[in-house]
Amino acid sequence: MTMPSWSYPAPTELRPPDDPDGEPPTALLRRLGLTPTRGRLAILEQLTPDQPLTSTRDLHQRLTQLHCPVGLATVYRTLRALADAGILHTFIVGHEVTYHRCSPRHHHHIVCIRCGHVWEEHPHAVEHWVDHAVQTHHAQLIEHRADIFVICHTCDTSP
Ligand SMILES: [Zn+2]
Ligand SMILES: [Zn+2]
Ligand SMILES: [Zn+2]
Repeated sequence: MTMPSWSYPAPTELRPPDDPDGEPPTALLRRLGLTPTRGRLAILEQLTPDQPLTSTRDLHQRLTQLHCPVGLATVYRTLRALADAGILHTFIVGHEVTYHRCSPRHHHHIVCIRCGHVWEEHPHAVEHWVDHAVQTHHAQLIEHRADIFVICHTCDTSP
């Protein structure tokens, strides 16, 4: 099934259109002005689209367990830089900032608050409503987000 592309990508998604998802980690870090140190490469390696939401502390802990200790400040700054560049999307869960590596195409999210799994959604209805609302108010669109937080089927049926 092919998904349509939207006419107005959010400005948080600034990745150039010719940027393939498979951009080498070293090139990606350099593009963001970050020196590709071993620690930063280890951070990127842990951030895959199938990973659940991760906080700075989660990721810091995971790297320590993998015997690849990276300073908490480095983890924090690298995640922030990746989020600022639109490579990661951020979610507040509880009172904590969490991150997910998303696809470059405009999308919305369904997020399980228990397991942290993120599904990317491409609902036509949201785009139409945004378009309509902006026109109705004679406004200029800056960006829009619509996320749905759920307890997923797997979490709901597990004891
Ligand atoms: Zn996303
Ligand atoms: Zn779940
Ligand atoms: Zn949208």
